[in-house]
Amino acid sequence: DAGTDPVLRADGLTKRFGDFVALDGVDLEVEAGEFRSVIGPNGAGKTTLFNCLSGALRPTAGSVYFRGEDVTRTAPHERVRRGMGRSFQISTVFGGLSVRENVRLAAQSVAEGEGRISLPRKLFSPTDRFGAVESRTDEVLSEIGLERRADEYARALAHGDRRRLELGLVLATDPDLVLLDEPTAGMGSEETRDTIALVEEVLADRTLLLIEHDIDLVMNVSDSVTVLHRGQVLATGTPERIADDDEVQRAYLGG
Ligand code: ADP
Repeated sequence: DAGTDPVLRADGLTKRFGDFVALDGVDLEVEAGEFRSVIGPNGAGKTTLFNCLSGALRPTAGSVYFRGEDVTRTAPHERVRRGMGRSFQISTVFGGLSVRENVRLAAQSVAEGEGRISLPRKLFSPTDRFGAVESRTDEVLSEIGLERRADEYARALAHGDRRRLELGLVLATDPDLVLLDEPTAGMGSEETRDTIALVEEVLADRTLLLIEHDIDLVMNVSDSVTVLHRGQVLATGTPERIADDDEVQRAYLGG
């Protein structure tokens, strides 16, 4: 039952591109409230794993279970609706809408059972009869600390606040699990630190699966770490254990 199932389970997840095996029988279990990082050198299969978990890619073999249910063939937006949130989807921020309107759209997308945002019909939709979307919108604005910016255009936000809004769009769907794909990709060290701090601040009480290339970055924040190497799980354990693992060191040094 839902009380004992892990939030997320991958079972023998395999993805081939032609003859090339990008994911090779990956098993993974993430428990409620856990902050799990998946790390690995470039080409290890992290993005492929993320895409199979979120539904963007159909695995060649193996299964994905979310809260005990097999979602291997479930469409991405349906996974979002069921509580599998994804970040940082920059493209979902509408610069020409206010911060509040952006959050409201995301909240509405799940409230209406679509898990998908479309404009402009949804924006002025009359279906929020009980005010659930409106109150969720207020909650999220407060959680991400953007109440005072709520009426500004999203495009006018400073970079850090835009990150907050992106996280807010995920939170608005009230996810049981948040999948984060290299949220700090392309950032300098200061911005990277700020972003990880923000993830910790805003998502601390959520179940998280963070895909990250930089091993040092995840060590202080994760409860547990899974190391991918050449499409396989090389090791899973506490950050301390992973940091001391000789095989992991070798993989990162180009083994
Ligand atoms: P990572 O995110 O860990 O850097 P990826 O999942 O992006 O790794 O890629 C793993 C391997 O799969 C790489 O060797 C990459 O070239 C290959 N790969 C990824 N996507 C495709 C694709 N669509 N077609 C062919 N090969 C792919």
